[in-house]
Amino acid sequence: MTRRIAIVGGGVAGLLTAHLLQRSGHRVTVLSGQRPNDLRGGRILSTQCVFGARLRPERDAGLALWDDEAPAITKGRLSLWLDRDCVLDWFADLVGGPAQSVDHRLKLAAWLEMLDDVAYRTVGEDELDHLAADHDLVLVATGRGGGFFARNADLSPHTEPQRQIAAVYLRIPNSTSDTTSIRWSMVPGVGELLVLPALTFTGPCYALLIEALPDGPWDVWRDRPGPDELWRRIRLLLRDIPREHDELAATTLTDERATLTGAITPTVHHPVAVLPSGRAVLGLGDAVVVNDPLTAPGANSAVTAAAMHAEAIDAHTGPFGADWMQRTHDAWWHAPGGGRDTTTVANALLNPPPHLLDILQSAATDPSLQRKFARVLETTEDADWLIGH
Ligand SMILES: Cc1cc2nc3c(=O)[nH]c(=O)nc-3n(C[C@H](O)[C@H](O)[C@H](O)COP(=O)(O)OP(=O)(O)OC[C@H]3O[C@@H](n4cnc5c(N)ncnc54)[C@H](O)[C@@H]3O)c2cc1C
Repeated sequence: MTRRIAIVGGGVAGLLTAHLLQRSGHRVTVLSGQRPNDLRGGRILSTQCVFGARLRPERDAGLALWDDEAPAITKGRLSLWLDRDCVLDWFADLVGGPAQSVDHRLKLAAWLEMLDDVAYRTVGEDELDHLAADHDLVLVATGRGGGFFARNADLSPHTEPQRQIAAVYLRIPNSTSDTTSIRWSMVPGVGELLVLPALTFTGPCYALLIEALPDGPWDVWRDRPGPDELWRRIRLLLRDIPREHDELAATTLTDERATLTGAITPTVHHPVAVLPSGRAVLGLGDAVVVNDPLTAPGANSAVTAAAMHAEAIDAHTGPFGADWMQRTHDAWWHAPGGGRDTTTVANALLNPPPHLLDILQSAATDPSLQRKFARVLETTEDADWLIGH
């Protein structure tokens, strides 16, 4: 049964859903605030590591265009640093197949160009209502600034950002650099560093995500410095992680727009918005659940939401009412590795409860615990294990 579906927002959540529905024969219109060339010429958006099992929907939709070029990430490496000494250091294989990080500037621009019907404009609430009148279903995937969905206070423990975030893309320093591991370094009371092998316009690179505890010694970019100055400050704080400093200090940014700073308040929203006309729209991706990127939650859960929502839309034959929307969201939220699990993992790692600290300590000498910890981070399934529930 062919449906007319409007999708507002051209990020990974909106575009993957659009492609999956288009392939199933639905008439899909995407409304995107950004054109492909805006994306290509813009600033980096994310470090966008997607784990192996979560890449399946984009492969199914014929959207995995970078498999030959993107570094295949097969391992995770976790290190803990105290006073510049490495006190814990272990590797674990990823269980769902190689993970991948493809610069969203590259990926989203290509995915937009591959759709049949895209209108480039920013949609306000009035137009949303018109779209709802003209389509069988409107999905809203406008990202974390969207503002269409009410905050769910019961599921949102935070009212402020838990980290100040910076991301930079760097040239791979040399031919012996490790391009097969996600390297995750923790400096207690200070912050965390993620180094991800990634693909950008210039080829393979490292995407760095630096997470600074607010008001701690790494909280040094609230004045939004320019690219060179930001990279200079990050190099200084890398001295707290000597191995990474040795590896990275001499390399350079991949391009002048390869930096990003900001802070995110982790927030869960109600997934259904009722418009002034009484019609309802369904949200997905960061528009509904936004987490701090420390555990790579956002794109991974957006992909799962896209796949599950597209399948539910395809299987449904009646009208897409608010009840159906809530049920569809709930099925994703409660699925193993779905929204709830991903949010649990993200919040647990931001403020590790004693149970999680015990796991980390025991894992130092127990490879089976290391593997289990890595698997929960990768899949987010069994998330409650991290918090002792
Ligand atoms: C520094 C950083 C690092 C990250 N690293 C990772 C990681 O390693 N792994 C991971 O899984 N996640 C990561 N994330 C999170 C991930 O990038 C996001 O969760 C994901 O991209 C969200 O996708 P989305 O489609 O929901 O929203 P977005 O990508 O924000 O897309 C929303 C789109 O909608 C458009 N839009 C907004 N409003 C309107 C409107 N009114 N009308 C029309 N268009 C509109 C916007 O312009 C945008 O193009 C990271 C995030 C950050 C900030």
